[in-house]
Amino acid sequence: MRKDLKRFGAIRVVMSAPATVEKMMDILACPKCKGDVKLNKKENKIVCHSCRLKFAVEEGIPNMLLEDAKNL
Ligand SMILES: [Zn+2]
Repeated sequence: MRKDLKRFGAIRVVMSAPATVEKMMDILACPKCKGDVKLNKKENKIVCHSCRLKFAVEEGIPNMLLEDAKNL
């Protein structure tokens, strides 16, 4: 159950906006390694330290697409 939530978390969160990015953090996972991601509040980015990738947050909605991710 918990695993399913994590897998589909990004889609569910977008559908149930508005929610703050901070509240989304425990259901968001890196699309590459499926690991936990961290919020960088200063840059308003979501970061995966394992993959050294960062994901943009656009209008409060994290863009977790691997093709749009930037290198750290
Ligand atoms: Zn990763």
